[in-house]
Amino acid sequence: MQELAFAESILQMALAHASRVGARRIARLHVAIGQLSALVLDLIQSHWDNISRGSPAEGARLDFRQELTRLLCLACDRLYMPRGRDLACPACHSTRFKVISGHESRVEAIDIEPDEAFRTAFAVAENARPLPATRAAAAVSRRRAKATRRH
Ligand SMILES: [Zn+2]
Repeated sequence: MQELAFAESILQMALAHASRVGARRIARLHVAIGQLSALVLDLIQSHWDNISRGSPAEGARLDFRQELTRLLCLACDRLYMPRGRDLACPACHSTRFKVISGHESRVEAIDIEPDEAFRTAFAVAENARPLPATRAAAAVSRRRAKATRRH
């Protein structure tokens, strides 16, 4: 269940980003998964495949990176990585600690498909070869200006 909620939240974030930068397709999401969050990656992926269908994020790849747990012992100030389920400080065995990393999962970066507007402009210029070169070039630069404004 939490995997579905997580997939929905990263989809919302990705779509908001796509519309902000005027991207038509999202290629990839880089996602950090906190070790303590206990999210199941396969479940996130299958929910993602379902809910992204028909959106600009359909077919986008999810690249997961596990973020290891780091704790700060509040008794002896030691920064440590717990072994397995035992979260106690290895030096003083205190269980009073602050979680420094590993408790949250988040999107770290979003890759969008390279804008195809430029490729379209060049294709038009090639088809328009019989035109005087200056007019074809002007058509390309007008299209380019349009493509640039969208960003
Ligand atoms: Zn300690």
